[in-house]
Amino acid sequence: MEEKDISQAVISRLPRYFRYLGELRDEGIQRISSRELSELMHVTASQIRQDFNNFGGFGQQGYGYNVEYLYDEIGKILGLDSSHSMIIIGAGNLGQALVNYMNFRNRGFYFTAAFDINPAIIGQKIGDVPILSMDELPEYIRIHETDIAVLTVPKQEAKEIAKTLVGGRIRAIWNFAHIDLPVPPEIQVENVHLSDSLMKLSYNIRRAGNKE
Ligand code: ATP
Repeated sequence: MEEKDISQAVISRLPRYFRYLGELRDEGIQRISSRELSELMHVTASQIRQDFNNFGGFGQQGYGYNVEYLYDEIGKILGLDSSHSMIIIGAGNLGQALVNYMNFRNRGFYFTAAFDINPAIIGQKIGDVPILSMDELPEYIRIHETDIAVLTVPKQEAKEIAKTLVGGRIRAIWNFAHIDLPVPPEIQVENVHLSDSLMKLSYNIRRAGNKE
């Protein structure tokens, strides 16, 4: 499949297509037209066709898309046909919750180790994932090729840790620390700023309240 330079806006819509198609597949639905998919997902049919045209259109014919094929192809585009190794830095409340969240493992994302500076938890395990000391991190990422490092440390710690990560065999950082990270372009960064999202919700609550 030919893949042009795809905009991040299109990429950010793919997981939602993937989720809906997975549900349709589980319901045993084999074909769906862009119009039906558009009604289900509340996006325009032309948006769907434009998005899919970035990837060659996925063989839409008069009677619609093949659900299983489309699901598989979008999964491949998202890299979900191979597994991803992950480590987590900061095994506090959020870090432990992420490691325990089984849905990641079901999708092929698995944690190999957690790292922390708190001596009270170093040596313990989150499920079957060992919590190691931060002193062990540089050696660990030198030896173990790791797809994703998840950063769930206080923001004032995150930059220094990112520098250590850059020296290792890490391909990407999933950053929950509320700070932009200085990393070279070959390391992919996805920021998840939970408090930004909550503030947006707070704004919308206030705005909705004002309308009454
Ligand atoms: P807790 O209350 O269990 O500490 P938390 O998620 O509320 O959890 P945070 O202060 O956000 O606490 O810290 C998250 C985790 O990051 C903690 O387990 C903490 O020990 C760890 N941590 C803090 N600084 C560093 C660091 N420099 N390197 C690695 N881990 C760190």
